[in-house]
Amino acid sequence: LVKNPLTYEGGGAELSDGTRVPLLANVGGEKDAAFAAEANADGVGLFRTEFCFLDRDEEPSIDEQAEAYAGVLREFPGKKVVIRTLDAGADKPLPFLTDAEEPNPALGVRAYRTSWEKRSVLENQLKAIAQASAMADAEPWVMAPMISTLEDTEDFVAMAQEAGVKRAGIMVETPSAALTSDHLMAVADFASIGTNDLTQYTMAADRMLGSLAKLNDPWQPAVLALVGATAAGARVAGGDPEAFGDGANKPVGVCGEAAGDPALAVVLVGLGVNSLSMTPRSLPAVAKVLSTVSLADARELARLAVCAPTAAEGKRAVRAKLPIIEELG
Ligand code: PEP
Ligand code: MG
Repeated sequence: LVKNPLTYEGGGAELSDGTRVPLLANVGGEKDAAFAAEANADGVGLFRTEFCFLDRDEEPSIDEQAEAYAGVLREFPGKKVVIRTLDAGADKPLPFLTDAEEPNPALGVRAYRTSWEKRSVLENQLKAIAQASAMADAEPWVMAPMISTLEDTEDFVAMAQEAGVKRAGIMVETPSAALTSDHLMAVADFASIGTNDLTQYTMAADRMLGSLAKLNDPWQPAVLALVGATAAGARVAGGDPEAFGDGANKPVGVCGEAAGDPALAVVLVGLGVNSLSMTPRSLPAVAKVLSTVSLADARELARLAVCAPTAAEGKRAVRAKLPIIEELG
């Protein structure tokens, strides 16, 4: 017997109490975006722009970048598309921007930090995004990776505004950003939590090392506590505690791999995250599992996971309360 394959219809996952949680897609370019649109994603929560830069000796021209960005924007007319500025360095080295000789690349001049010395690359990228927005008649949200401080946030938001970006946000990937999110979110329009890097930096465990996989687990209670702190900071900064999705004054999403794990997605929503961005393949299962809980249930499960003494115990406790997970296999 072949089971009916699950599908996602779009319009946000609907919790049992009617709360809607937009489910967005992580994409790396136009082809991915077309696939995500086909899968009914409610928009793009993370557009990784590195594809346009990788394997190049020189920076691509503004026109070339604009063309590539417009291709993604055109797949989601009228929908939310979050463009992440260049995340070079560490696992994504670029010969014209990052220093291959750095002793600790993951802790080095990577991502947003590369703009401290070479400002023009980020300025040009923001110009290209503005050009793409005009070409596609779209208003993308734009965020920077590896933001650590209020100064970083102020600097990036000012640069984005200068380029004409309407919504300028930050990725929360460092414990410092999570713990000071009330200050950062007073300045940024939104945050997106990159749980892949947030886990790496919280657990002090290189995400590229398979031998450290058990530490690089977003179920680690310390990581979940930082997700909760980020969402709480956003509320202090002026968000409506009851608002979800793009209606929230200061939206906080998750775009790391954690968002595509259905049981963990419930926990993230319970921690106050109001949109989830994932690989399109995960959309149906995440929507299905979310439909079995109310917001109050999700908050209770989040408490179980954050208060658990270990990642394994938290995961077990949450999954035990979600019988649908077993049914989905
Ligand atoms: C993350 O760190 O969780 C993230 C989404 O960004 P990347 O995996 O591209 O570093
Ligand atoms: Mg990251």
